[in-house]
Amino acid sequence: MTDSKQLFAKAKELIPGGVNSPVRACLSVQTDPLFIARGEGPFIYSEEGRRYIDYVLSWGPLILGHLHPEVKKALLETLEKGTSFGAPCALEIELAELIVDAIPGIEMVRMVNSGTEATMSAVRLARGYTKRKKIVKFIGCYHGHADSFLASAGSGVATLSIPGTPGIPEETVAHTLLAEYNDLDQVEDLFKRYGDDIAAVIVEPVAGNMGVILPEEGFLQGLRELTFRYGSLLIFDEVITGFRVDYRGAQGYFGIEPDLTCLGKIIGGGLPVGAYGGKKQIMEHIAPCGPVYQAGTLSGNPLAMSAGIATLKVLQTSDYKLLAEQTKKLALSLKEILEKKGLDVQVNTISSMFTLFFTDKPVKNFSQAKACEQEIFASFYRQMRKQGVYLAPSAFETSFNSFVHTEQEWQETLRAAEALEF
Ligand SMILES: *Cc1c(COP(=O)(O)O)cnc(C)c1O
Repeated sequence: MTDSKQLFAKAKELIPGGVNSPVRACLSVQTDPLFIARGEGPFIYSEEGRRYIDYVLSWGPLILGHLHPEVKKALLETLEKGTSFGAPCALEIELAELIVDAIPGIEMVRMVNSGTEATMSAVRLARGYTKRKKIVKFIGCYHGHADSFLASAGSGVATLSIPGTPGIPEETVAHTLLAEYNDLDQVEDLFKRYGDDIAAVIVEPVAGNMGVILPEEGFLQGLRELTFRYGSLLIFDEVITGFRVDYRGAQGYFGIEPDLTCLGKIIGGGLPVGAYGGKKQIMEHIAPCGPVYQAGTLSGNPLAMSAGIATLKVLQTSDYKLLAEQTKKLALSLKEILEKKGLDVQVNTISSMFTLFFTDKPVKNFSQAKACEQEIFASFYRQMRKQGVYLAPSAFETSFNSFVHTEQEWQETLRAAEALEF
């Protein structure tokens, strides 16, 4: 039998760190990764054949769980007709229409292959459109791994404590201005100093890459007003929150319309996808109708489009409010169980996203997230996994619930927590 340990040893000889994305290596939780053989509904199965309740869900895309019957059916039907044409296909229009109808700030949308491509292209468009150089990003927000965003990014970069990263010229990040999440005064100061040269403010409307951090009352509204006042664009990176926080995205949930929106994850239904969209007047600056170049050999790929379409169609009739209540109940029950064991726990949750922070203070920005007990998180992670509950292997990530998890899985998760020892 091949097991995860053997596979990881072999993988490390062939792939840097044995993984194709750093957090998967489980370094910060001081263990080895599981190799996953298959997934079904709310479960994944390791190469050892062991079943786990999955709260990672491929880092967010699988809001309908693994191998949802509708998604599987759509993929099989599309597969029969070929996998890629490098020419327009009708499925691209169908997904574009679903997105435009759902997301308030999107009138036109361009498909790409990953969230990274979406944010990178949106910023290029913002710079091309405004003819300005600088962008404002928030410390601990992650917008993919394009050069200009890798100054104080969250997620994997945060986990590994890489200060930015080698390989990026200072000049490249010199145009990236940083502010603390939820600190409008800092943003206003940046605008006072550099206002005429700020092309865009990019923000996760709910931060999901330093653990879940909610925007405080007035924060997103304040960004909307400041960007209007200075003629900059507001970009919502909704790669996680799009179709996750609400079918209308976080922008529909909070009632704030950005100029550009980045999507990914859920809109690909588990296949590699990204998209960026916004006001028609801005989007028409993209080639071939405008001068800002952006392209992709596999963009609008029929398999990815059909998985996305099938997913969004199921989501149209899914009860987001109910899932939010169920998620809150699960997270608060976990908190209660852990507090009885003498731990300090904060719960941040919205919709089907939740993070447990091991601290006694509220967590509203990245410095506060970093101040939490990493060792306790690591032990929590390892012990939960031992008992068949699969959480994200980093204190700076979100756990995701899905529409196919049931009371049975949640109860099993709570029983696992009851058995923990610290
Ligand atoms: C995952 C993520 C990205 C990057 O998407 P990839 O598909 O991994 O390139 C960008 N922004 C946010 C908010 C994300 O969570």
